[in-house]
Amino acid sequence: MPIVERILMGPGPCNPYPEATEALGRPMLGHLDPVFLGILDETCDRLRQVWSTENHLTLPISGTGTSGMEASFVNLVHPGDVVVIGVNGLFGQRMVDVAGRAGAEVVTVEAPWGQPLDPDALLSAHRSPAIIAMVHAETSTGIQNDVAAVAAGKGDALLIADCVTSLGGIPVDIDGWGVDAAYSCSQKCIGVAPGLSPFTLGPRAWERRVTQPQSWYLDLGMIDEYATTGHARKYHHTAPVAMITSLGAGLGVLLEEGLESSWARHRSCGQMLQEGLVALGLELAAAEGHRLPQLTTVKVPDGVDDAKVRQLLLERYGIEIGAGAGQWAGQVWRIGCMGHTARERNVILLLQALAEILGR
Ligand SMILES: *Cc1c(COP(=O)(O)O)cnc(C)c1O
Repeated sequence: MPIVERILMGPGPCNPYPEATEALGRPMLGHLDPVFLGILDETCDRLRQVWSTENHLTLPISGTGTSGMEASFVNLVHPGDVVVIGVNGLFGQRMVDVAGRAGAEVVTVEAPWGQPLDPDALLSAHRSPAIIAMVHAETSTGIQNDVAAVAAGKGDALLIADCVTSLGGIPVDIDGWGVDAAYSCSQKCIGVAPGLSPFTLGPRAWERRVTQPQSWYLDLGMIDEYATTGHARKYHHTAPVAMITSLGAGLGVLLEEGLESSWARHRSCGQMLQEGLVALGLELAAAEGHRLPQLTTVKVPDGVDDAKVRQLLLERYGIEIGAGAGQWAGQVWRIGCMGHTARERNVILLLQALAEILGR
């Protein structure tokens, strides 16, 4: 199917929420227009609800999910700080790279791909780390790591959590768990266009932040003065007006549905998908009991052409599934069932399509 038709097909596998799409097409407001500032405030309020936090510094950073990762490390790592990082996939490894460039002395705690991180191993890796960092939902493997357990035992360390694939899809409780800094993205379980990184930073992290971080653009002190209420709105950089308006609309849809309903919808779709794949004789790649509902990894069966199957799914059915990444390149498929795409009918369509293509 031609790409344009796929996009215009209406709500479905490739379509963001109509409300969020429509927001992108509205006449543009100026970035200091009081109407836009109202939308920005409302978007930050909605983010506080979705993060389950009262953190004042809660806002969308201008950039994709990785910009939230960069902002976390450049603002919190003082040169030479010990930073313990859990690595059981590609995104934990990315944290190691980013923290190292920010001047951290990184201590990695690894788990094999497809297995969860051991919270005790993270907590005992160093006697007094400045920061512990981990990925909540490892998108490269489909594994959920236990952020709550690490938060409960972190002591004096700050905890940074990558919630890029978790926010909106599975429970995230920043204040209840005691997470000091967390970032997400607009395009995964929140289900709008890519380009923003929902971000939140708590008071302990704020007090310990670097006051002149190496990155001018991601300096949270300056961003806070521009983007959050109670400040003079001193210009720092031009807010991505259309993107923020769209994110605000998407968050509105999510909150109207209710977080618990959204989590339940992701859970039931993920379960249906995983049971269906097993019924087709396929093997799931992530350890049982730690599987994410919103991102399923399944082994490419022997003798099957990985790329050809993905191409046929896309061309015949308009369904895109992900290839394996990193260590698992060519070995697994990664099936996202996130945000608005987490619908039973999409799961049924995919399972039927896979059965047809694989001749099962
Ligand atoms: C997608 C992803 C990122 C990176 O987000 P971008 O929007 O691609 O920059 C970081 N961490 C995890 C766990 C992800 O899934």
